[in-house]
Amino acid sequence: MKIFARGWSHGFDGPGRRLVYYLKGCNFRCLWCGNPESIAFEPEIMFYPEKSEFATQCCPHGAVCGNVLEREKCAQCCERSCVNLWRDRAFELAGKEISTVEIVAEAESRRAMFGGDGGVTFSGGEPTMQMDELLDVVDALRGRGINLVLENNASSPRFRDLLGRFDLLICDLKCVTAELHRRIVGADNRQVLENLRAAVNAGENLVIRIPLIRELNFTAEEQERFVAFLAEIRPPRVELLRLHQLGLPKYEALGQSCPAEQFNPPDDEELEKFRQRLETYKINVESIN
Ligand code: SF4
Ligand code: SF4
Repeated sequence: MKIFARGWSHGFDGPGRRLVYYLKGCNFRCLWCGNPESIAFEPEIMFYPEKSEFATQCCPHGAVCGNVLEREKCAQCCERSCVNLWRDRAFELAGKEISTVEIVAEAESRRAMFGGDGGVTFSGGEPTMQMDELLDVVDALRGRGINLVLENNASSPRFRDLLGRFDLLICDLKCVTAELHRRIVGADNRQVLENLRAAVNAGENLVIRIPLIRELNFTAEEQERFVAFLAEIRPPRVELLRLHQLGLPKYEALGQSCPAEQFNPPDDEELEKFRQRLETYKINVESIN
């Protein structure tokens, strides 16, 4: 299984204290993605030249020229001595392999830290892009009685394989209008809407999480579409996530420009109005920051 990070979280990625595995690779290209290093499947070097004065000396291939990294050279480089030998702070490798056996052993050894309601969360990237490996590890952890949460974008054609396997599914809903979804996410959303319906109908413990960006999916028209869709399918819980720009330094470290710099979150009042409107349809909805 390919991951780009792992770590502890409390309160955002499911109940209690959780060990979160962030799987690498995503089929979407959300304009606001805060983890650009999660999107490509292949490992990538993140370069922070300001963190070290020795960066140039750490590359035997001459890929570092001042503050610029020649990524074509990194793509051909197997030994990656900048991270593996020198461990220089200017370089981070996003992407590594981890086996089911390692994950199960790690979860077992940390079990005492989960407390009463914590456990393991699989997030991304889009974890269902590695569906076979994901199901293997989830079945192994379930057999050991570990609480399991999946954060995903609900787009998998194999979504039904997930049902009944997790204690909680947290599914993103980026927008309802198909054309808008293609424009701001770079993919179709027909499967997403179908999968969310299927999860509700199957009685899953489900949270639909909606990231809100004023200029993209918080227009009056799109708010109405959200309301209509959620009122129709009636999920057990909805969370409205006000989007913050957290990913800018990461885009720079990857040598990419951040596509969402110019966008803004809705303000408190607008968000509360929308939350209350959803509540009038008896939808259990909360705003989170
Ligand atoms: S990945 Fe290889 S080529 Fe790129 S900076 Fe590191 S050592 Fe140099
Ligand atoms: S689904 Fe998540 S990881 Fe994938 S591009 Fe969108 S925000 Fe990024």
